[in-house]
Amino acid sequence: MRKYDIAIIGGGIGGLMAAYRLKRRIPEAKIVITERGNTLEKRNCPAGKNRTCVHCKHCSITSGFAGAGAFSDGKFNLGTAYGGTLGEELGEDNANYYISEVDEILNEYCTSGIPKVYFSNEELKLKCLQNNLRLLDMNVKHLGTDNNFITMQNLIKRISEDGTELLPFYDCENITESGEEGYILHYANGEKITSDKIIIATGRGGANFVSDFCRSFGVHMRSNYVDIGVRVEMKDIIWKEFSDQIYEPKILYKTKTFEDRCRMFCFNKGGLVSAENNHGIITANGHSYAEPEKKTENCNFAILSSIRFTEPFNQPTEYVESISRLANMIGRGNVLVQRFGDLIRGRRTNDHRLGQNTVIPTLRATAGDISLVLPHRILTNIIETIYALDKVAPGTANDDTLLYGCESKYYSIRPEFKNDKFELVDGVYIIGDGSGICRGLSQSGAMGIYVADRIADI
Ligand SMILES: Cc1cc2nc3c(=O)[nH]c(=O)nc-3n(C[C@H](O)[C@H](O)[C@H](O)COP(=O)(O)OP(=O)(O)OC[C@H]3O[C@@H](n4cnc5c(N)ncnc54)[C@H](O)[C@@H]3O)c2cc1C
Repeated sequence: MRKYDIAIIGGGIGGLMAAYRLKRRIPEAKIVITERGNTLEKRNCPAGKNRTCVHCKHCSITSGFAGAGAFSDGKFNLGTAYGGTLGEELGEDNANYYISEVDEILNEYCTSGIPKVYFSNEELKLKCLQNNLRLLDMNVKHLGTDNNFITMQNLIKRISEDGTELLPFYDCENITESGEEGYILHYANGEKITSDKIIIATGRGGANFVSDFCRSFGVHMRSNYVDIGVRVEMKDIIWKEFSDQIYEPKILYKTKTFEDRCRMFCFNKGGLVSAENNHGIITANGHSYAEPEKKTENCNFAILSSIRFTEPFNQPTEYVESISRLANMIGRGNVLVQRFGDLIRGRRTNDHRLGQNTVIPTLRATAGDISLVLPHRILTNIIETIYALDKVAPGTANDDTLLYGCESKYYSIRPEFKNDKFELVDGVYIIGDGSGICRGLSQSGAMGIYVADRIADI
């Protein structure tokens, strides 16, 4: 059995940043990153050709080296206002220090041009406030899908040259203790490795792995909230005032009927709506390319309604998965798409009406009726949010606006840490989206460097 000092499970930005820092702090350490997906270069989503999901075992969009961020728009948050709660965990100054460390590393490996930084804007903030909307405020660096990919490629090459072993198609099924040897990691391909220390960096896709680990090692899990809703697509020009100035509007709205929190985020200017396969459940997402020739006429963003369940219910992830599964059932294995005008008139969208729509869909989804899928409360929240957003970006509530269902984000597993090193049990640490703390590239990377520093300090 191969033996390592530190095994990192998951090759997303969290795991990569941890490996990068560890090699700088303890060069002699024997480190491995095991990843359930493919190498970055060989990650390939077959949906690219015909724009429809073919249900791969491990989704190439979210799994593989460079993680869920590999084909992302590469929007890098230069602060803690959103994208996770690392500021609360580490203190704002400390969290910002680690985010700036990630930024510096990415700058070093971003060889394909200088990314543009968008600054927060007081006028737009006021306009939103006057309409009961809260524009979240932070400077954002935009790499774009292509630059982001090249940056990650360069970073991974460097990590490999540093001597960290990178093992694709190593899907960790479980971890057991082995006395003097530390821990044994058991893989789906029949391999086993031992390691003194482990960093779990399995992202959102590793939610079940983390909960299984917590159950078998007696780590208490707190209930976190889940977000469910739709991906919204319309003509790019409708949000141009915002996107030209701040690139990515992230807006919170407290809905009138239920006083729930709804948020607009993950904005993609000139972007494409994409399908994501989460263990056989197909959900919507979006991205955009930096290169002008790859831009579309559309923009897209998510509108999600947040739910925090209270006792006795404790399966929020399953709840969200059930709703998404229902959309797939009606959509015959695909996400649904509906015109906003059809939703408001209480009728399904069909291929004929979709064919006449002025907004041309960028994802081939099944024309249908999302009101047959989303619970009343969530649908009401989404409709109210669209009308509220229409006040600051008129045209958002047009009949031809497209809603893709469902999109979901769940952060329901929030393990209790032993200490401020994010240690779950002796020698096992957790970082990134899978920790329930992060929701973006910068905080996940920052948490990776933070934990690497704590391990190196021992
Ligand atoms: C389409 C899309 C666009 C996005 N755009 C942005 C953006 O522009 N800006 C932003 O800040 N954030 C964006 N995000 C979110 C961002 O990508 C994530 O927050 C970030 O990647 C989390 O990093 P991570 O390292 O914690 O996890 P991940 O990047 O999810 O990496 C975890 C890795 O672990 C692997 N894994 C899981 N379980 C196992 C296991 N049991 N064994 C072995 N390997 C395992 C997975 O295959 C995956 O590669 C986007 C996400 C998506 C899906």
